[in-house]
Amino acid sequence: MRMRHFLRRLQRACLAFLSAFREQKCRECGCTDWLACCIEFGEACHWVEPDLCSACADPEEAD
Ligand SMILES: [Zn+2]
Ligand SMILES: [Zn+2]
Repeated sequence: MRMRHFLRRLQRACLAFLSAFREQKCRECGCTDWLACCIEFGEACHWVEPDLCSACADPEEAD
């Protein structure tokens, strides 16, 4: 069953490809790589955690 084996590999490759394009999204404000929630000092917010952008990160908590 070579064809079946090939299809399974193809499916796995497709899933890996799609997951690479999954958007990162802030859990607080919902901004993404494509749509930053704010631009401070001429720079868009950045990721401080995989799902938390710099605008929503509490500066008091950052040591
Ligand atoms: Zn945010
Ligand atoms: Zn943001």
